[in-house]
Amino acid sequence: MRQPNTLPAEADIVIIGAGIQGCASAYYMAKAGMKVVLLDKSRVAGQQSSRAWGFVRVQMRDPDEIPLMEECKKLWRGLEAELSADLEWNEGGALYASGSPSIMAYREKWLESAKSFGLDTRLLSVAEVKNLLPNLASPIQGGLYTKSDGHAEPRKAAAAFAQRARELGAVILEGCGALALEKSAGRINGVETEWGNVRAKTVLLCAGASSWRLLKGHDVLLPQSFVRASVARTNVLPQVTDAAFVGDGIAFRKRSDGSLNIASSMHGDVDVTLDHIRLAPWYWSAYRESAKGLTLHVGASMLRDLCQRMPWSDEARKPGIHEREPMIPPQQERLQDAVRLLERAFPAVGRVGLAEQWGGNIDTLPDGIPVLDAPPALPGLLVATGFCGHGFAPGPMVGKVMLALAQGAETGFNLRAFRLSRFAEGDVKKPLSIW
Ligand SMILES: Cc1cc2nc3c(=O)[nH]c(=O)nc-3n(C[C@H](O)[C@H](O)[C@H](O)COP(=O)(O)OP(=O)(O)OC[C@H]3O[C@@H](n4cnc5c(N)ncnc54)[C@H](O)[C@@H]3O)c2cc1C
Repeated sequence: MRQPNTLPAEADIVIIGAGIQGCASAYYMAKAGMKVVLLDKSRVAGQQSSRAWGFVRVQMRDPDEIPLMEECKKLWRGLEAELSADLEWNEGGALYASGSPSIMAYREKWLESAKSFGLDTRLLSVAEVKNLLPNLASPIQGGLYTKSDGHAEPRKAAAAFAQRARELGAVILEGCGALALEKSAGRINGVETEWGNVRAKTVLLCAGASSWRLLKGHDVLLPQSFVRASVARTNVLPQVTDAAFVGDGIAFRKRSDGSLNIASSMHGDVDVTLDHIRLAPWYWSAYRESAKGLTLHVGASMLRDLCQRMPWSDEARKPGIHEREPMIPPQQERLQDAVRLLERAFPAVGRVGLAEQWGGNIDTLPDGIPVLDAPPALPGLLVATGFCGHGFAPGPMVGKVMLALAQGAETGFNLRAFRLSRFAEGDVKKPLSIW
């Protein structure tokens, strides 16, 4: 369908950010008959939503996220048919092998906390893990397995939602950044964009790691930060498992052509900026707990940040947009480690070559769970952001939840833990993981 490349003057809803949250929301809203405008400062799924590993798991999630994620797995099972698209959906389970008693105990504790949800997750003995992974050579203590988890291809999912949303009449504008949320008479009632203004009864903010920048002008506290992660696609390898796998320092999932998406499961990189320093009190304990897994880089990122703060820079002149296409290089040591660990854990795969590699900035919040809210302080605004490295999987259900909030209907979930005001209230729990 031909798309207009001009900004409509008004819409029922304007969605800022065409990642998986924005694209899924646009699809369900357009399907419900709403007049939708979806804006991205860059392109559909240019950021996290196409850079993710692709795990679709309930396993090891914060208990507050479990009801939503369990329902979302039902959506994933029917999504290829719903969107008439190949998403490489593979319901191969999630299998986390535990190499030490402390990791085993940590996962056992999580399972205990999730007991009331009736999940099909179970602890596996060493023999059971070996049965599922006959080629695993690493010494293990056991594992955690959720048979009904799965994985899908991030490069396909958000794009498929966007395509179907377009066919249903949603206007999707790439290269059209939101500069500010418009407010009058105490309500958010539109968006100021690079292409002009658009009025709307409702605005959905799902701009990934940049969401806080658009809230900043409205006296709303969102201590959102980011961590850089590195991923690679291997050459086609002999079959290891269909499960989304974590263990012995690596994470991987099999793509439909037989290659793997691999990453270090333990290491991320922080490209320190002044905002990381400003937010340090929020993240101090989480950083300290994962200190061994995070490497801080101070030089180039800080210099770039300082340049971007100069009044003549593009970033300072358009603070809501900031960097249109952030440079996110993959960290070579992480990928070399991942290859070495994969070859060691599964010698039967032989020599592993890398066909492609990329980095991604994971947006974080101090309690490791997102904001999913229609904040009472800003009527007219919906927020879906801060998914802390696991927001690809719940994306389809987030779209449905945002539709219900836009319609003033029941979402079917208790969203209290995800309210935006928890940061201003100081009601922030200890995270299970922030990235
Ligand atoms: C390396 C990596 C691995 C991951 N692995 C997994 C996984 O296995 N499973 C899982 O569930 N999750 C995973 N995640 C997390 C998941 O990818 C994210 O949580 C999810 O994609 C977030 O989606 P989003 O729509 O909120 O944000 P994004 O995908 O980041 O999209 C935000 C969009 O907003 C746009 N934008 C920003 N500012 C503006 C503006 N001012 N105006 C207009 N547009 C704007 C951006 O251009 C971008 O396209 C991973 C993430 C990374 C980086």
